[in-house]
Amino acid sequence: SSRREKSTVPPPAKYGGRHTVTLIPGDGIGPELLNHVRELFRFSCVPVDFEVVNVCSATEDDINNAITAIRRNGVALKGNIETLHTLPASHKSRNNLLRTTLDLYANVMHCKSLPGVQTRHNNIDIMIIRENTEGEYSSLEHESVSGVVECLKIITRTNSLRIAEYAFKLAREKGRKRVTAVHKAVQTDLGPGPGLVPGANYGRDYAVFETATRNTGKSIADRNIANPTAMLLASCMMLDHLKLYDYATMIRNAVLTTMNETQLHTADIGGQGTTSEVVQAIMRNIQSKGPLTSEL
Ligand code: ATP
Repeated sequence: SSRREKSTVPPPAKYGGRHTVTLIPGDGIGPELLNHVRELFRFSCVPVDFEVVNVCSATEDDINNAITAIRRNGVALKGNIETLHTLPASHKSRNNLLRTTLDLYANVMHCKSLPGVQTRHNNIDIMIIRENTEGEYSSLEHESVSGVVECLKIITRTNSLRIAEYAFKLAREKGRKRVTAVHKAVQTDLGPGPGLVPGANYGRDYAVFETATRNTGKSIADRNIANPTAMLLASCMMLDHLKLYDYATMIRNAVLTTMNETQLHTADIGGQGTTSEVVQAIMRNIQSKGPLTSEL
C-alpha cells in the first residue's frame, strides 16, 4: 500500500475536498498563534477543518487523546507543550512522547533569510534534517542514586541509515547538491531564532508541524507581541503537505511581503508591531491579490 512508501503520504481530502487536521494549542503563545492561523485560514477560505485537542502536561490521558487524533487525521499543527520540571524524572516531555510514539523520525527546518529581517549572516538557505527519536530523544533518564541522573543516548544503525536516506531523498527532491553531516553542537550555532522559522516532523505515516525552536514563549504569552511568522510558515508547510499548494503559496507570499514592511516588525526583530497588526497586514495583502480560482 502507499503507506509503505518512504516519505509520509498525506491523507486524501474528504468529500468536498476538505481536510481535517488535529490542532494542539499547547502552552504559552501557542494558543494565540494558532488562533491567528485559524483566522487566516477562514479568511483565505482554506479547505481545512481543525479538530482541537488540548493537552495538559500533568495527565497521561490528554497526550494519548492527541496521539489518537493524529493517528486518525494523519496531520497535526501544534504549539509547544510545557514540560513541568517540577514533576519526577520519570515524567516525559509530552512533545517528545508524541514524536516518538508516532515515530516522527525526521525533523525538518528550513532556515532561510527573510526579506527585511537583519541577521548576522545574509543569504542563508539551509535545510536542517535532524533525527527526532534517538540520541537524547530516547528519553531514557533515571536517578540512579539521589542527586545523580543518568541519561542513555541510544543510537541504532537502522535509524541512522533511515535519517540519512531521508536527507538524501529530500536533497534530491529540492535540487540540493550536497548533504553535510554535522554534530548537534554545530546545529545549535546554525539554528533558527524563535518566532521566525517553521519546523516539521515527518514519519512514515504521520506529519506534525510546529515552530522550529519548540519553545513555549511563556513569558510573552497573551500580550499580543509574539512574532507569528514561524507558526504561520509552519501552517504553510502543512498546506504543502496536504498538497494545497496554491493556498500555501498565497499565504507564504503574503507573510514574506509583510516581513518587508519594517514598521510592522514585532519586538523580537527590533520593531514595535503587535501580533494582530502583522496578521491583519497579511490578510490585507491576501485580499489585494483577489481570491484563488484554480482550487475553488
Ligand atoms: P520558558 O520559561 O518556558 O523557557 P520563555 O518564554 O521564558 O519560557 P522560551 O519559550 O524558551 O522562553 O523562549 C525563549 C525566548 O524567545 C523568550 O525570551 C521568548 O520571549 C522569546 N520568544 C519565543 N517565541 C517567540 C515569538 N514567537 N516571538 C517573539 N519572541 C519569542
